Amino acid sequence: MEHKLKQITIISGKGGTGKTTLTANLGFLQSNIVLADCDVDASNLHLLLSPNIKEKYNFYSGTKYSIDKENCIKCNKCINLCNFQAIDINYNINKISCEKCGLCYNVCPNKSILEEQNCTGEYYISKTKNNLDMVHAKLNIAEDNSGKLVTQVRKEAIKIAKEKNLKLILIDGPPGIGCTLNASITGIDLAVIVTEPTLSGIHDLERIIETTNHFQIPSSIIINKYNINFENTKKIENIGNNFNIPCVGKIPYDTTIIDSLIKGKTIVEDFPNHNISQIIIRTWKEITTLLI
Ligand code: SF4
Ligand code: SF4
Repeated sequence: MEHKLKQITIISGKGGTGKTTLTANLGFLQSNIVLADCDVDASNLHLLLSPNIKEKYNFYSGTKYSIDKENCIKCNKCINLCNFQAIDINYNINKISCEKCGLCYNVCPNKSILEEQNCTGEYYISKTKNNLDMVHAKLNIAEDNSGKLVTQVRKEAIKIAKEKNLKLILIDGPPGIGCTLNASITGIDLAVIVTEPTLSGIHDLERIIETTNHFQIPSSIIINKYNINFENTKKIENIGNNFNIPCVGKIPYDTTIIDSLIKGKTIVEDFPNHNISQIIIRTWKEITTLLI
């Protein structure tokens, strides 16, 4: 029987919950999956999995405009008509103010405005240190098409999985909510929400559950540093129960994780027999049972 390709995205309501560290640890335990780093605004997965870049591509999104000053007859039509005051008196187009409406390009009497595809970032196909295919990306500074870049990273990961007949894609999603989160979770089989037992952690968890519920995505919870506040951990478990979202793992706070991080390693690689490594292994087993 042919098994359908499954996709899991690890997400968190906010940054700093240990989402990427956990994704790297879970990824390090695998041998036949594709990894996708969809936290394109602040990708960090590479720091722990040391991918060796095999292929590199420019990512283009939308158009960009510039003025060919040598050819410009300085009629100022573009400056006067731009609704966003994006063109200065020296005929430079401000990249941030320009809304790419194309009006200047269309009204210029001398065809002095150039229209080109906008290169907003790069994406890479790499091999991690544990020999997994990994797709990751970098968005250029001040570019705002991160949702489209996430979609591209996911497309490439699906392509590799299909070519190599791999059955699972593990995605490191972005922290928080917004268009990159939406692009990271649409059509997936399971969201794993990493949270911590703090008041802000609980608040952000509730917000992100609203999003996964909206998209009707099966979800699960990992409580990181659960032992820093048992009362809040209980509250998180209750929230999960109320929404029928199982808690698949509770990771204690332990400085050994940080010791491994400092060495650029996952704890499962650095201390495979450590209690936390064993908990992470069990957590992965719990996650996979939810995919059946
Ligand atoms: S593309 Fe539109 S927003 Fe950008 S400079 Fe031209 S007129 Fe202004
Ligand atoms: S409309 Fe064209 S020719 Fe006129 S100032 Fe702008 S770029 Fe130059």
